[in-house]
Amino acid sequence: MSQAKNKKTRRQILKERRALQASKKAEQRVVDRIHRTPGAIRVNEKALTLGYGTPDFVRRGYYTDQPFNCKDCGKEQVWTAAQQKWWYEVASAPAITKAVRCRECRRKERLRVEAARKQSNDGLQRKRRART
Ligand SMILES: [Zn+2]
Repeated sequence: MSQAKNKKTRRQILKERRALQASKKAEQRVVDRIHRTPGAIRVNEKALTLGYGTPDFVRRGYYTDQPFNCKDCGKEQVWTAAQQKWWYEVASAPAITKAVRCRECRRKERLRVEAARKQSNDGLQRKRRART
């Protein structure tokens, strides 16, 4: 009985040791890749707002500069690794979101949304006043 228990424990210890070594190796692979990739920045998974699914940068373990075309004006842009880290880990944006507009179009879009919200609020207030 106690021997069986010991065996199980020994097996458990070996299993844990192997798992630890595997995770150390995986960590080393990520660190190596970061060193080989210009501009790469480590992902701090604890700071992320994760939903369903695992985005590429989480699986990879680091951010890289991402080229993209602005959704509105089509201008070629680079979303830098540092900007991504800030977006996901400081601003706590959901991990599935990403940059789609250039700075100028983002500003325009923000103004457009604010104006639309104000117009809709004004409309509601007019309706309320009309009722009372
Ligand atoms: Zn744009």
